[in-house]
Amino acid sequence: MPIFDTMLAHDYEQLVVCTDKASGLRAFICIHDTTLGPALGGVRIWPHKTEEDALTDVLRLARAMTYKAAAAGLSLGGGKALIVADPRKDKSEALLRAYGRFVEAVGGRYITTEDVGSTTDDMEIIATQTRHVIGLPVAQGGGGDPSPMTGFGVFRAMQACAKDVWGNPSLQGRTVAVQGFGKVASNLAAHLKRDGARLIVTDINEQAADRARREFDARLVAPDDVFDAACDIFAPCALGGALNDATIPRLRCKVVCGAANNQLAEDRHGEALMKRGILYAPDFIVSAGGVINLSMELMPLGYNEEMARERTSRIYGTLEKVIGVSKAEGIPTSRAAERLAEERVGGARAVKRIWLPH
Ligand code: NAD
Repeated sequence: MPIFDTMLAHDYEQLVVCTDKASGLRAFICIHDTTLGPALGGVRIWPHKTEEDALTDVLRLARAMTYKAAAAGLSLGGGKALIVADPRKDKSEALLRAYGRFVEAVGGRYITTEDVGSTTDDMEIIATQTRHVIGLPVAQGGGGDPSPMTGFGVFRAMQACAKDVWGNPSLQGRTVAVQGFGKVASNLAAHLKRDGARLIVTDINEQAADRARREFDARLVAPDDVFDAACDIFAPCALGGALNDATIPRLRCKVVCGAANNQLAEDRHGEALMKRGILYAPDFIVSAGGVINLSMELMPLGYNEEMARERTSRIYGTLEKVIGVSKAEGIPTSRAAERLAEERVGGARAVKRIWLPH
């Protein structure tokens, strides 16, 4: 990968390569954009097969965080870190401490938090080495697991989609097919059940799927069959790339709205969904509840759940705005959402020309 050209093409600011022989650390810290504030993004711990895969992943995720924070109205930039390791086998206190020291060395331009493969307990270890970490357990003044807030935000996004497509935000009697029944989806399911929706669920983990059946009366389908399930809303809540050339033609829904990051395999798949008459709720708008919840830890008075909930609830209005732009300009919702975020970052960048005395 031609790294300078790749970074320049999408306005990346900084890439830090971190290694430590003693702990076995191999990590990237990627800062995409700090116009709105310090770059916030989780640290993913994942055993990528090649360095190229790892780099592609961290660059893509960092940029998505800029869009997510900007569209959510937060004063934060976008970044991401990746520790190339198997979280089940290679994670150790020394590895996390070494990573924490590199985060500290970046000097607050990047704030780390949890992501796939890392947990709130890991953040406690990282916090022994750096001040620039959030997502700490509630007992330590943090907001704890952000998944319940993310699940609530996905529910608010689904309500906005329902209002647009069926003229009513209620999900009563709607069928929602959920791919991946983990932390976010199980929280989302509680809201859906309360609102009277029916669930179809798949998960590669049998226990997770079984929980959906027992607790939420979900109809279970095999992982590959979820794309063919007749439903009103398809909710990708597993890993990225669920919407691609092979899956989009199979979808039998009116709306796609879920928590997974980077759902579109490529940007052009936003257009493919539009052509099929499916309303796509852009992932970085839909799943912002988690980052909103985390950002509350940075408030002067510390974490406040009420405020986090109120801000997350605004995802409804943000999505309405995105859908409005998409319709008015005949562009995919994915593009409309990016434009909204780019305009906010662009506006903030422009006012920085005004000199301030220190
Ligand atoms: P999780 O690991 O708790 O749950 C994911 C579930 O998906 C697991 O049960 C896993 O077995 C299942 N899964 C993986 N691949 C699958 C496949 N091919 N088919 C069916 N099931 C599959 O993760 P989570 O915290 O619930 O997050 C879900 C998604 O939402 C991720 O993409 C994550 O990046 C994104 N997200 C999460 C948050 C949050 O607050 N947790 C915030 C924003 C975005």
